[in-house]
Amino acid sequence: MYAASPPEQNSPPGRPVPWRRRRPAQVQPSRGKQFREHLRLGRKGLAIGIDIGGTKVAAGVVDADGRILSEARRSTPGSDPRAVEQVIVELVDELSAGHRIRSVGIGAAGWMDLDGGTVLFSPHLAWRNEPLRASLQRLLRRPVLLTNDADAAAWAEWRFGAGQGEDRMVCITLGTGIGGAMVMAGRVERGRFGVAGEFGHQIIMPGGHRCECGNRGCWEQYASGNALGREARILAAANSPVAQELLAAVGGKPDRITGAIVTELALAGDAACRELLEEVGEWLGLGLANLAAALDPGLFVIGGGLCSAGDLLVEPARKAFARNLTGRGFRPAAGIELAALGPSAGLIGAADLSRVSSRTRG
Ligand SMILES: [Zn+2]
Repeated sequence: MYAASPPEQNSPPGRPVPWRRRRPAQVQPSRGKQFREHLRLGRKGLAIGIDIGGTKVAAGVVDADGRILSEARRSTPGSDPRAVEQVIVELVDELSAGHRIRSVGIGAAGWMDLDGGTVLFSPHLAWRNEPLRASLQRLLRRPVLLTNDADAAAWAEWRFGAGQGEDRMVCITLGTGIGGAMVMAGRVERGRFGVAGEFGHQIIMPGGHRCECGNRGCWEQYASGNALGREARILAAANSPVAQELLAAVGGKPDRITGAIVTELALAGDAACRELLEEVGEWLGLGLANLAAALDPGLFVIGGGLCSAGDLLVEPARKAFARNLTGRGFRPAAGIELAALGPSAGLIGAADLSRVSSRTRG
């Protein structure tokens, strides 16, 4: 079980949030320069978005309304930068046939410099201070933008998905870990050095579970798909009678339990798996309350694989958020909504950011 639970509730459950998020129609979408430029330049032009993951590279032709017109995929070819470049070139060549492509956006896990030209660090790909944009622009003969994958997904949700109409949005991606990104006043907010959004490594439980970042008690050790799988494996290994269905689903082998399996069983109605998801949702809401205290967004958008749990995850998160929010009862509270675009958000956002960026760079 968890080392401790989030603080107990101190306001009645189900208490209505005193102020709701402003209706989209009342919000000025943005005063940001990028957004104004985007509108001014109209709806023409196609871009290719490429999402480089640890196991696959997904690419698509995206129009100015965020629709994917055609798609292609490859396996991620190891971590050699030249091999990854080659796959990108192949995908762009394949997708360019029959489309007039103005720019290419590339999203990957890791940190890019603020200009979108150099990959400072990528955990899955051996990119260290790699000037990827310059070499790709030579190979592709088009403007290229590099972006963090969580930033790309957040931009897509803000432009075309759950964040439309909200001026200050924080996007949380729940997968094996926690990805984070912010769109503030029409711009992806990336901090002074381009590495903002590492919300998953806020320490939420000092001395808690060890995290791969080297610290203990990071949020992503409590509110991610990995955390869900770990807790379920502990429950199953204890041979608890409540875990019998869970054990049966993995042939009696607790090591085979993953967050995805727990989510599936929870959706099918298994009580123990629902309880495990509820715990993860409570940790999620506690971390969101911390972020609200620091950033005061109007909306949190929750994406990533764990979101297939829907309300089984988000409802406990909303309750924990409401009872941990600083100044609750005396301040407007941010909304918490599920992402709308699914796993293609990264490539849609990378494509759209490349279009906006290439235009603002002239
Ligand atoms: Zn960490």
